Formats: sequence, C-alpha cells, structure tokens
Amino acid sequence: MPAQSICSALCDGKILVSDGAWGTYLQKKGLKPGECPELWCLERPGDVEEIAASYIAAGADMIESNSFGGSSFKLEHYGLADKATQINEAAARISRKAAGSSNWVIASVGPTGKILMMGDVSEEELYASFKEQMLALEKGGADAVCIETMSAIDEAVIAIKAARDNCNCEVICTFTFEKTVSGDYRTMMGVSPSEAALAAIEAGAHIVGTNCGNGIRGMIDIVKEIRNAAPRAPILVHANAGLPKNVGGIDIFPESPEEMASMVPELAKAGASVIGGCCGTSPEHIKAIKNALLSHSA
Ligand SMILES: [Zn+2]
Repeated sequence: MPAQSICSALCDGKILVSDGAWGTYLQKKGLKPGECPELWCLERPGDVEEIAASYIAAGADMIESNSFGGSSFKLEHYGLADKATQINEAAARISRKAAGSSNWVIASVGPTGKILMMGDVSEEELYASFKEQMLALEKGGADAVCIETMSAIDEAVIAIKAARDNCNCEVICTFTFEKTVSGDYRTMMGVSPSEAALAAIEAGAHIVGTNCGNGIRGMIDIVKEIRNAAPRAPILVHANAGLPKNVGGIDIFPESPEEMASMVPELAKAGASVIGGCCGTSPEHIKAIKNALLSHSA
C-alpha cells in the first residue's frame, strides 16, 4: 500500500488517474445476466484480478474492487448475504495484489437498493450492513473505500459514517447525476451536485465526486458545480464512455478512448482531481486519459 494517502498526493495539485468499468468488463469476460458479479471474487478470482491488473497496466494510479454490490442487502438477492464478509475481503485482496505497493485500492461500495424514505430498512440496519462491508474491505487491504453511484443523501451519509467510525480507509463518495429537462443535473432522488458534495463532506468524506450516468462532457458541468460549492475538496470523476445506445439488445457505449481523452484538459480545468471511467470504458480509455493528462501537465 502506498506510503502517501490519496489526499496528500493530490495536495500539490497533481491529477491522478483512476480505473475504468468493472460491470461491463465482467460481462465481456462472460458474466451472465442474473449472475452475482461479486461471487466471482470467490469463484473466478483470476478473472477479477486480470481486470484490476489491466487497469494498472494502462496507467491507473488506483483501482476499485469487485465489490460494488457487496452489501449484505444486495447479496441477499443471490442467497449470499452470509458471505458478505468473505466476498468483500476477497474483493479487496484481489485488487490489492494487482495494485502492488505503489497504487491505491479504492474499494467499491454501491447502494444497497433499500430506500430509507420508503421504510424499506432502518438506519441501524443500513449502518450495520455498511459497517460489515467496510471492515471486510479494509481487512482485505483497501486504502480507501469508494462509496459510489449514490442517489439519496441519507444512505450516502450512513455509508460514510460506517466507514469513518470503523476503519482507517480514506473515504470517497460519489453520486450519479442525470441531466434534467431544465438542463440541471440531479440524482434520481432529486439531489443536486452541490447538495450531494456538501452533505458528503459534512458526513466525513475526504473526496467527493460523480460517476456514471454521463459521458465525460456532462461531467464537466457537474464538476464545475461541485468545485464552486466546495472550493478545496478533491473531486473524483468516473465518466461513462458516453450514454449507452441499445443495439439489438446490447448496450453499446459510443465514446472512443480518443474522444474521452480530448475532454480531459477541460475536465481538469473545471476542477477534477481524479479522473477515471465508468460503464463502457476499458483499459484503452484509461490509457488515453493518462496520456492526455501527461501531455496536459507537461
Ligand atoms: Zn457506470
């Protein structure tokens, strides 16, 4: 694990590169519809490690882990809730191995799918589930946890607290925003980028940001809004390779590595501190982003 924290590496204004897609990459490797992606950490660890290693080889400074749906609530759909600790620990360990000692593991923690406002679950139950996941990810070797694609502030805040209270990992929290008809960006629950970022920072997140839901162009306006609301917060961006177009039942993500890379200078100017990819991005996209940053800072 790197000696320096991500935040201190960002301190001197350096921009770091994160990894690309996991979900769509697992599908490329043969994950079938209805199959539990996270179970691959136990059953196909070699394939999972290949994904992580390919992003490191492409130049990523940090990689996520195959634990996005690793909460006990998500695993419950597959009858695997009792394996949450084992799966998350394995997920972090696999990424740790691929990251080596000079790159960070930012272990993925996605939403539980439960909505507090709807009374699906109590705050205590949500906290307990996130706590279990955070403990296991840290034990497996995570440097940071990346609480991501959140849409509700209350769930994100509980996840952040569960991380801050129970482990020493740096805490990243991103939300997914979509463009509304009025041209503003909101999460599914109606939260704006500035509201989301400020709530996450107040709850104790070290790094805030945005992932999924947009290609890299849409991310520029979101980052500008967050930067405006939180002038000093490090901002992480995981952009999709554009918005998917359904072609014959398959989602095709249209943006090429070159197209994404061409927007990197503007995204950096808007205030992004960490740039990586989400759905549809590949190691080629990450390599192009890395090269764009290297020539941008040269
Ligand atoms: Zn995505």
